[in-house]
Amino acid sequence: MSFYEDNIADGSHCMTCCQLIGEDVGFPRCCRNCGGEGSEPNPEGHKKRIKAEAMQRFDGWLSRTGIAHKKHNNGFHVVLTLPDGRMIDCWPSTKKWQLRGQRISRDGKALHELVLQQLRPWS
Ligand SMILES: [Zn+2]
Repeated sequence: MSFYEDNIADGSHCMTCCQLIGEDVGFPRCCRNCGGEGSEPNPEGHKKRIKAEAMQRFDGWLSRTGIAHKKHNNGFHVVLTLPDGRMIDCWPSTKKWQLRGQRISRDGKALHELVLQQLRPWS
């Protein structure tokens, strides 16, 4: 991997003069000297990190439940299959989920309870 791919492409270094700017933002950018925004916290990068964290948390939860699932689009869309055959579409990065045919929800606790109730009906 080249310096460009490693450090310019992720936005941690200036795409014009290769100076260090700051945190990875996931896209190339310029330092302040070269007309860029500098090292101020970047809302895009921040959003991206929050999404990544949400996905990681979802992943952890998913493996703890042990529910059958299939990941699509690099994990941005996950389809859970309940023991009774119903499907739940989840978009972990936005914390949205939807029991197929019903309304989209952002209530993570409701999802948790729905899944656990299905997996462990005796509890
Ligand atoms: Zn620069």
